[in-house]
Amino acid sequence: MLSNDQIKIYNKLGIPLDYGEKNNLVFYNDAIDLVDVGPNIIGNRQKLTREAALHWFRLNEAAENDQISLMIVSGFRSFDYQVNLILRKLERGIAIDDILKVNAPPGFSQHHAGIAVDVATKGQAPLIEEFENTIAFEWLKNNANSYNFHMPYEKNNIYGFVYEPWHWIFN
Ligand SMILES: [Zn+2]
Repeated sequence: MLSNDQIKIYNKLGIPLDYGEKNNLVFYNDAIDLVDVGPNIIGNRQKLTREAALHWFRLNEAAENDQISLMIVSGFRSFDYQVNLILRKLERGIAIDDILKVNAPPGFSQHHAGIAVDVATKGQAPLIEEFENTIAFEWLKNNANSYNFHMPYEKNNIYGFVYEPWHWIFN
């Protein structure tokens, strides 16, 4: 669970130490067996674990064969990355409760484990709920399970997160 240093960070961010537990979240250590899965939509190279990457490539190939455009927005993100993301939002005056609806507290993001991908498709802004109306989403719903990818943040999920049709995890 949280180390002493991480507890200090939680106190600094104003996140209750029992937040993860209260919201049914799983603690993930930063992944170590990461491989490059290519650039995301703005050209920054992304990483996933070797196993997740392999399945992500297979899933992509299948999507391409069906003329479906899938683009990666974000793969692995570290504990420290999550801290900075939240800090920047706090600096912009956003309340921690509101931040935690869209960003997991550090340590509880599935992106730390290198098994989560945020997916976008051509012709639509990324990370918006309307992704659910795209043929890419329809394709994922019908096919992603065959590659062991699932969508954990459904509408009214038990984790207190907003509905994230773009967020898929390998497991
Ligand atoms: Zn995500």
